[in-house]
Amino acid sequence: ALVVRHRMRSSGRWARAMEILKELEENCATPIGKLRQVADAMTVEMLAGLASEGGSKLKMLISYVDNLPKGDETGLFYALDLGGTNFRVLRVQLGGKGGRVVKQEFEEVSIPPNLMVGSSSELFDFIAAALAKFVASEGEEFHLPVGRQRELGFTFSFPVKQTSISSGTLIKWTKGFAINGTVGEDVVAELTKAIERQGLDMRVTALVNDTIGTLAGGRYYDNDVVAAVILGTGTNAAYVEHAQAIPKWHGLLPKSGKMVINMEWGNFRSSHLPITEYDQALDAESLNPGEQVFSSSTSLSTKNWLFRLICNLFFYSQIFEKLISGMYLGEIVRRVLLKMAEEAALFGDSIPPKLEVQFILRTPDMSAMHHDTSSDLRVVGTKLKDILGISNTSLKTRKLVVKVCDIIAKRGARLAAAGILGVLKKQGRDTALRDGSDMQRTVIAMDGGLYEHYTIFSNCLETTLREMLGEEATASIVIKLASDGSGIGAALLAASHSQYLELEES
Ligand code: BGC
Ligand code: MG
Repeated sequence: ALVVRHRMRSSGRWARAMEILKELEENCATPIGKLRQVADAMTVEMLAGLASEGGSKLKMLISYVDNLPKGDETGLFYALDLGGTNFRVLRVQLGGKGGRVVKQEFEEVSIPPNLMVGSSSELFDFIAAALAKFVASEGEEFHLPVGRQRELGFTFSFPVKQTSISSGTLIKWTKGFAINGTVGEDVVAELTKAIERQGLDMRVTALVNDTIGTLAGGRYYDNDVVAAVILGTGTNAAYVEHAQAIPKWHGLLPKSGKMVINMEWGNFRSSHLPITEYDQALDAESLNPGEQVFSSSTSLSTKNWLFRLICNLFFYSQIFEKLISGMYLGEIVRRVLLKMAEEAALFGDSIPPKLEVQFILRTPDMSAMHHDTSSDLRVVGTKLKDILGISNTSLKTRKLVVKVCDIIAKRGARLAAAGILGVLKKQGRDTALRDGSDMQRTVIAMDGGLYEHYTIFSNCLETTLREMLGEEATASIVIKLASDGSGIGAALLAASHSQYLELEES
């Protein structure tokens, strides 16, 4: 291939680049018809996941949250949020109906990359140490009744099989975390041991996924919040389900009749998903791949539908997440550019070495390039130079790079919209609902840096959702950005599951 490339005339190179682009565009296409199929498949998988344990790749995890915050929670509570590149500790003084959040303080600590792939106790010790330090800085404006233990809501943004509201075992790591010996363990027990090693007197009273925290935090401020979606490093959704609609739930029917479900939609798969050779290779080479039956060079572009179907059903891991979320979008773009460099000498006769480095192109940088409005695409030029060491790119090349970003970002945004439509359908909220003459609102609490900062992505998501829902239904549906709402949500759930609650009620 190298020899061929050297002989290729520049017009031939460009033609090859265009061919790769065209193929990418075709394979990433998400016409509305296809999105509807994805949404319907989502609804079907939701039902299957609720029906029985292992009934679907969609885990539909029971959160043990059957009551969402009402606003009457009071007292001092802590929250700890672990799930992406940062973790956050938070304390909040809740003042009940009148006071709501009286005072709130938080601190953000970034997780050293080596801890994301180290040992379980190292990670938890690091977290507990930061927590202990934070607790030590508690000021006098926070009040803890004498003789009481501090209580914590633990937001742990990974798939967990809950065994109660305050315990659960890790199913698998996602988002680049790969820590030995945590899968199958109770993460609250792990955290509690680390807290004890710090000599800190604190009890975890709620273990929640970030989607659950976001839903709880959202509901605290808005009664019409019925679902939460995260579009950040990873992606996921949670929603309020009728307890009776969960055949796999054998516990008592909650008084509220409701149960919040953590869908773990990142693991959703369907033969309707537009998966390309780049996604397949990314999955195979990722830290938590689906079963690696095929080598990474096995190409899906063979258009063998049976092969594609089999792959979809059995081999991918977190594939929906890998098509949509912030951890992966930049990486997919890198892979496309690498192929263009290899096969069309897009960046000259040799392949820029940095372009071969996995995950070097982060989604925030992709976003910066995608949003470049300067006539000479200056930002694109600078990013290519600074991140990938590619200098002197022509305007034509920069435009091509932007086009690749556009294809990958919009595929992700449109698939996310289809996912949301699937959830709305399951809830019977994909059409305008009326309460007498009043339109019933449906509010989705949204969190995550991808949605918050990647404007083209979020605009595309909203436009697509509107297109699929129609104007009338769209008017009743609100996507509400609740940045870091999961922290306050976890604290609220810690409050409503406090060990002192019954004491107070009696
Ligand atoms: C995790 C989910 C989480 C989501 C968003 C995914 O990788 O599996 O549990 O809610 O990321 O943080
Ligand atoms: Mg988060």
